[in-house]
Amino acid sequence: MDHLKAKIRHVPDFPKPGILFYDITTLLSDQQGFRDTVDALAAPYMGEDIDQVVGIESRGFILGAAVATTLGCGFVPIRKPGKLPAASFRESYNLEYGTDALEIHQDACAGNQRILVVDDVLATGGTARAAVDLVKKAGGKVLGVAFLIELDFLNGRAKLPGEPVYSVLRY
Ligand code: AMP
Repeated sequence: MDHLKAKIRHVPDFPKPGILFYDITTLLSDQQGFRDTVDALAAPYMGEDIDQVVGIESRGFILGAAVATTLGCGFVPIRKPGKLPAASFRESYNLEYGTDALEIHQDACAGNQRILVVDDVLATGGTARAAVDLVKKAGGKVLGVAFLIELDFLNGRAKLPGEPVYSVLRY
């Protein structure tokens, strides 16, 4: 997977001092890199009968939608507050400073659908925790939580005990 790592741009001090930002736009714009990324994310779930890929706004939309077409299943967005038009569930989570929230349509995974949650980066895990809780509130069964990048030193996995977490690249 080193050829994928080589295509990710590292931007120091973005969006604020001390953060090393993993910029995947340089990977997405590379035809082979994008294809290999999507295939690597989807591979563990081939034959798992996933009903929906749930992608987290906004980079989770790019990867998640492509993974959904690869797996031959549907796609469900988890969005920032106030963006979804129909009745939604909301989950708040803590950031380094303050809180944020995410929403899912209440009927998005109804009937115990088999769900794969996809995002680009697992950092502290707060975002993914909120997404998993939303899927469960909406009636889904979480078969996997998949990331392109996992930042081991932030131990985000600890926020997802009992969930099947998979990451393509680890730092
Ligand atoms: P967290 O809730 O701390 O796990 O943060 C995860 C979310 O923040 C993901 O949706 C990422 O897109 C974004 N994120 C966090 N840290 C980084 C980073 N170092 N580089 C790029 N994106 C990041």
